[in-house]
Amino acid sequence: MPWIKGEDCIGCGICVENCPVGTISLENDVAVIDMVNCIHCGICHDTCPKLAVRHDSEKIQDEVKSNIIKTKEFMHDCAKYLGDSKEKQKCLNRMIKHFNKEKIVMEKTLEKLQMLKKE
Ligand code: SF4
Ligand code: SF4
Repeated sequence: MPWIKGEDCIGCGICVENCPVGTISLENDVAVIDMVNCIHCGICHDTCPKLAVRHDSEKIQDEVKSNIIKTKEFMHDCAKYLGDSKEKQKCLNRMIKHFNKEKIVMEKTLEKLQMLKKE
């Protein structure tokens, strides 16, 4: 999924002109993508002269960090609201199960997407 690295955007508007579904706009001279309408065509990546349109694979480390922070918050809240520090470990196990499910969903999705290449 595309995202704009704001500090690299010079507000030239090329991506705005070329987006086939008109889902990019300029706000304070920085491009902003409304992902609700984005069809993932990649034109904005290809036409930006400053390489300011980035791919979300660059955000993997940020997403991992965010998942760890979220899990620690849930563990803290489970202990706080359920009144027992053992709840932290139970919560952690539930979160591991949750992320394992996410992993399986992604693996199975990738399998199916690979099959689409043969159609
Ligand atoms: S084409 Fe690139 S530099 Fe120009 S407005 Fe879009 S994101 Fe910014
Ligand atoms: S990927 Fe395509 S549809 Fe999505 S914002 Fe870029 S140009 Fe527009």
